[in-house]
Amino acid sequence: MGVIHRLDRHVAELIAAGEVVERPASVVKEVVENAIDACATAITVEIKNGGMTFIRVTDNGSGIYREDLSEAFQSHATSKIQDESDLDGILTMGFRGEALASIAAVARVELLTRRAEELEGSRYVIEGSEERENQPAGCPKGTTIIIRDLFYNTPARLKFVKKDVSEANAVAGVLDKIAVSHPNIAFQLIKDGELKLNTPGNGDLLSAVYAVYGREFTKGLTEVHYQNGGFAVDGLVSKPEFSRPNRSMQNFFINKRFVKSRTAAAALEEAYKGALMVGRFPACILNLTVEPHTVDVNVHPAKIEVRFQNEKPIFDLVYFGVKNSLAGLNAPEIRLKNQ
Ligand code: ADP
Ligand code: MG
Repeated sequence: MGVIHRLDRHVAELIAAGEVVERPASVVKEVVENAIDACATAITVEIKNGGMTFIRVTDNGSGIYREDLSEAFQSHATSKIQDESDLDGILTMGFRGEALASIAAVARVELLTRRAEELEGSRYVIEGSEERENQPAGCPKGTTIIIRDLFYNTPARLKFVKKDVSEANAVAGVLDKIAVSHPNIAFQLIKDGELKLNTPGNGDLLSAVYAVYGREFTKGLTEVHYQNGGFAVDGLVSKPEFSRPNRSMQNFFINKRFVKSRTAAAALEEAYKGALMVGRFPACILNLTVEPHTVDVNVHPAKIEVRFQNEKPIFDLVYFGVKNSLAGLNAPEIRLKNQ
């Protein structure tokens, strides 16, 4: 009773193709997103040598049936969508069924997994797309995936990989964004044996942001909560006196997916107009909740760019959400009628 199946050619061709495995950070992003889709509440990422020799991601999510394991590593094999119509309303982080196949093509992969309802788990090994092992094994509920020797069989791609520190920083950057968009999940990053990130997973955004970006950054923030029609924006923005010298701390998420959105960025800055000096910029961690059919996430291989059915409601949502929140900072505490 497996749940993973290969998409038919037509649907596979509708999917924005492209290389998803560029460097350790892209591997970590894909594997952690799989853990999120599996409803994990705790996700631990361990890397060595910037992730080039070793990446281990452990989750306490759904696990994978043994009979699904070979299938999971085929390209366009997924449990998340069935047919073309599902592309109109993506609710999961993944849907293309490409990540595990692409990773296994260029690395040595070992997977340990157990479904909660099964007594016995499985150990699966695949190297350079060659299946080496698929057998019963005792293991905790959830999935552990170990990826060793990335690009060991594609020397040409090794040339594009940067020094270990840069790769490790990129991994940390990816995880920071995922952690602040999922405050209900406890994330850990262990780099060369050292704990680098540890979020509580208690559902509180401010606690997650504190764990990721520290006290100085967190104390300059104020909350945003705003709803309009089927759209909502929630998160944190910097108080005007805590502005920043660049835009690097502007983080937008659509349905918890990190995205680059010029519309959202323009609306944010418009909302601060007059409140900041030239050359100073707001910071934000804002999640926009939109109906899945109003946003196309299938336009970019890494899903960083998305296309909105209509940009206007997105602009208004961010603009009014932020504007209201900033206005609240200046408002007198109590206002009595007729005074
Ligand atoms: P996609 O995420 O687009 O479906 P992937 O290649 O990333 O494609 O994964 C293939 C399938 O393997 C997923 O659809 C899912 O069923 C299963 N899978 C992968 N990682 C996990 C995990 N950590 N926990 C449970 N299932 C997983
Ligand atoms: Mg995936």
